[in-house]
Amino acid sequence: MRIDKLLSNSGFGSRKEVKILLRSKAVEVNGETVRDPKFHVDEKIDEISVAGEPVVYREFIYLMMNKPQGVISATEDRFDETVIDLLTEDEQRFEPFPVGRLDKDTEGLLLITNDGKLAHELLSPKKHVDKTYYARIDSPVTDEDIEAFKQGVVLDDGYETKPAQLHILRSGEESEIELTITEGKFHQVKRMFESVNKQVVFLKRLSMGPLPLDDTLELGEYRELTEDELTKLK
Ligand code: URA
Repeated sequence: MRIDKLLSNSGFGSRKEVKILLRSKAVEVNGETVRDPKFHVDEKIDEISVAGEPVVYREFIYLMMNKPQGVISATEDRFDETVIDLLTEDEQRFEPFPVGRLDKDTEGLLLITNDGKLAHELLSPKKHVDKTYYARIDSPVTDEDIEAFKQGVVLDDGYETKPAQLHILRSGEESEIELTITEGKFHQVKRMFESVNKQVVFLKRLSMGPLPLDDTLELGEYRELTEDELTKLK
């Protein structure tokens, strides 16, 4: 990796700022001053220091966000703000991406990382990572719906869903439910309710695998995962 990228990712500022730092002769690799931003280092072997202080290189970033409505779960969008736009420049330098998607109008737990391996494992259909959602539904939700979701329902494209656990919190003109699914088909929760002729009017993801949404996070806020949370996820 280039020394400027490594230093930038390690919190020493933008590439431009790192260039100035390099020019000031503050950076050493294995005891030799390095001034060339293109200089290649092996972050696992080389000893890198800035002003005599060793640089601890960090490869990955892991964030938990309480996604607000109106923001797209993607790295770029031509029209709308993305979840990545909500991060600081320092965090964006890690080139993070959201792990899976929440719809524009869905809120709640979204993991953001640059660890492709972990993201792949969490999204792999083989791993069956549980995702629990809270939803408000436009009509009464019944025991028949619980049974139907347990058996699997057929979506509009003919796909039959895997067993899902539906828990009714309140049934009425507008109902409140929690639903745990092990898959991540496009608009899955909304389409499951459509299959029983009901509409989701509000949707929020509460958890993913062993990771619950930190309820101290306001909408649009995020924080790094703790070591403990990361260990449980891996
Ligand atoms: N299911 C949906 O319908 N939408 C989401 O955003 C997530 C799950």
